[in-house]
Amino acid sequence: MSWENNVRTVVPYTPGEQPKIKNIIKLNTNENPYPPAPEVYEAYKNVNLEDYRKYPDPTCGKLVDAISSFYKVDKDQVFVGVGSDDVLSMAFLTFFNSEKPVLFPDITYSFYDVWANLYRIPFEQKPLREDFTIDPEDYFGENGGVVIANPNAPTGVALPLSDIEEIVKRNSDVVVIVDEAYVDFGGESALPLIDKYDNLLVVKTYSKSRSLAGLRIGYAFGSKKLIKYLLDAKFSFNSYTMNMPSLELGAAAMENREYFEETVAKVVATRERTKKELKALGFEFGDSKTNFIFAKHPSKSGKEIFDYLRAHDIIVRRFDLPRISEYLRISIGTDEEMDTLISVLKEIV
Ligand code: PMP
Repeated sequence: MSWENNVRTVVPYTPGEQPKIKNIIKLNTNENPYPPAPEVYEAYKNVNLEDYRKYPDPTCGKLVDAISSFYKVDKDQVFVGVGSDDVLSMAFLTFFNSEKPVLFPDITYSFYDVWANLYRIPFEQKPLREDFTIDPEDYFGENGGVVIANPNAPTGVALPLSDIEEIVKRNSDVVVIVDEAYVDFGGESALPLIDKYDNLLVVKTYSKSRSLAGLRIGYAFGSKKLIKYLLDAKFSFNSYTMNMPSLELGAAAMENREYFEETVAKVVATRERTKKELKALGFEFGDSKTNFIFAKHPSKSGKEIFDYLRAHDIIVRRFDLPRISEYLRISIGTDEEMDTLISVLKEIV
């Protein structure tokens, strides 16, 4: 008998590469190519290191206030965490405690099965249709909970809000998590449904549309009851999840609605232009509503294109998984970066 028999083993999630080299076009982790709002720079100037002697506010009051006023929801309907990964992980731990399987698509954010395995939660992956759309009926049967990324990742495909509502309605005896990491780029948010369904948790992030992946802030909306359970789990795990700069800078980022909308609009415009150029080169992809395009080429393998781009200092993401190994997930960068990408792709396809 070895102590290793008692280890909580798990195959970890592999995050996208963060290369050390400077002059690389980095289109592999869906970061925003534009800087955070000017208010964030201002708040950073006012950060007082002397205050760091103390613990941060365990209720994350300033950040929660800023989020609740931006989205016009009550403060006790908001939960914050260290990136949406932390929020999602807490939600898995809190809400999925059944013998029945939690349901999510076979092709989706590849952290879901990792958390399920870590927490020993049974799960079942429902195959997406051939065109990578979700069949809502797959989620109507008995289960221990449901997780839907909307728009889905890495496919970029969005489900209409009416389908999300149907899934939430049909699952009133379990919690339904809707992961809206990319919703600001063109999806329909389920936020308006949280007052109608007390089993719905809507999860969002600062990492994409708010250009603050490095700060690590995620948040969620739900009924007061749902948020209370999440807080109970959080305070049984780590009281001080959010550090002082996250609380200050995160609150500042919510002040400027115009900057947020403009930045998102720029990314969306570049995405639509990139779709046309990729199409002209023969690439095939679904209708992305996110800040990335998930594409394959009929005559060149995913690996070949990936390696060629990499050799030309452009990094995209490729998942060596069933059904999607020929695809590349290309994050939307600046117009200039996408121009370089297209010109390098022209050399190979
Ligand atoms: N959900 C989805 C669908 C994602 O793609 C990501 C980004 N890897 C996350 C959640 C987590 O993002 P973060 O922890 O940076 O908020």
